[in-house]
Amino acid sequence: MALLTEINTSVEVQNYIDHVFEKVKRRDPNEEEFHQAVYVIFKSIKPVLMKNPAYIKHNILERIVEPERLITFRVPWVDDQGDVQVNRGYRVQFNSAIGPYKGGLRFHPSVNTSIIKFLGFEQIFKNALTGQPIGGGKGGADFDPKGKSDGEIMRFCQSYMTELSKHIGPDIDVPAGDIGVGAREIGYLFGQYKKMRGRFEAGVLTGKGLLYGGSLARKEATGYGAIYFVKEMLNDQGQTLAGKKVVVSGSGNVSIYAMEKAMELGAKVIACSDSNGYIYDEKGINLDTVKQLKEVQRRRISEYALIHPEASFVEGSSGIWSIPCDIALPCATQNELDVKAAETLVNNGVKVVAEGANMPSTADAIAVFLENEILFGPAKAVNAGGVAVSALEMGQNSSRMSWSFEEVDKKLQEIMKNIYHNSLTAANEFNKPGNLISGASIAGFTKVADAMLEQGVI
Ligand code: NAP
Repeated sequence: MALLTEINTSVEVQNYIDHVFEKVKRRDPNEEEFHQAVYVIFKSIKPVLMKNPAYIKHNILERIVEPERLITFRVPWVDDQGDVQVNRGYRVQFNSAIGPYKGGLRFHPSVNTSIIKFLGFEQIFKNALTGQPIGGGKGGADFDPKGKSDGEIMRFCQSYMTELSKHIGPDIDVPAGDIGVGAREIGYLFGQYKKMRGRFEAGVLTGKGLLYGGSLARKEATGYGAIYFVKEMLNDQGQTLAGKKVVVSGSGNVSIYAMEKAMELGAKVIACSDSNGYIYDEKGINLDTVKQLKEVQRRRISEYALIHPEASFVEGSSGIWSIPCDIALPCATQNELDVKAAETLVNNGVKVVAEGANMPSTADAIAVFLENEILFGPAKAVNAGGVAVSALEMGQNSSRMSWSFEEVDKKLQEIMKNIYHNSLTAANEFNKPGNLISGASIAGFTKVADAMLEQGVI
């Protein structure tokens, strides 16, 4: 490869991108999910590098794919039988160019370095897109909360935070929830942080309960934000959500509030799922039942069909994409929508696919959507409403104010609108008209890369 300062031509720029990508894969050959997330960004940014050679000269690509810090630690805890269990905890502090590290914690048995790095990498660009001063981070543990008692969850969270508390703080790194980490877990984590520090620092975690510094509308923010984004996509086509058939995967935090807002705007949600299978109700899902089963009782989605016999439960969650719909919202987990599912959706006439989950579509599935000119909303833009309201929660904590639901919701709508329009503008500017995946990657990347340039080689 030519010297960085001498790279000019289109071929040389592509060689530079390929060189960095090969190095990422060579260094950590087992981190497939992380490679996939890097690939999505690298696929979009060649025209940006052509336009601004300073990014190459200062080797921004190689710097941006290397986390500033990756922490792994032992999380020992005692189960209800008195046995000592050991899990592995993680926190990646990926990039602090535009603000303190910010990103959720995931408790799921599949968590490993690759998953945490892909999520942390995505988070850098998502956070930049919100327009708020927050850097990128992510964390979690390979702990499975399913089937655990409240006491076990509490002891695990306390042990996890005993170590994590050494690395975070309101101006350093501010975790939140993600898969397996909701209000209950954030409560236990916050309690332990407060005890370790001996001070009440509300701004150290977001997604807190309303009694101790949480923000109204944070619980709803990711799902509502996703639908506000879809509303903008449809609006540009002279359409609305009214009367559209919607299929949503998952039945967790993101899915439930995406369903709620979609229904409020007149859409009909006909299916949702969990990791065991999906429920289908042609007449429309009863969201109160889903909330009761999932938020209150922590039960399986299959039980929905026992309460509503007109609905059917089908085992195996991937089959959900065979249901004909206008709008598909993958809101469960990474790589849940593959190329076959994408082809089925397209053949069945899907008009919009918007990613509520992080990286739910495989690279091949995305290619199918783009080839067929399906309106495609990428995760880093569509699900940015959650972290955006988390940043509003941080703002309320530092000013010791609390805003009404309506105020927060209004700001969320504005933010989602801006993310949509900024992504679209970037796509148009760099000759990818209508391609929101390129647009979102470019808009997020340039903001972080410019801040890195201004701060020198650190
Ligand atoms: P959650 O509340 O824990 O819910 C996850 C849901 O997905 C559960 O219903 C889970 O079912 C289901 N699920 C997991 N694997 C599945 C599979 N293979 N097929 C079908 N369903 C499956 O988590 P969440 O907070 O909603 O997060 C969902 C996604 O959104 C994740 O990708 C997360 O990173 C992303 N996200 C979340 C936020 C946020 O604010 N929460 C913000 C941005 C992005 P089981 O109960 O059977 O496991």
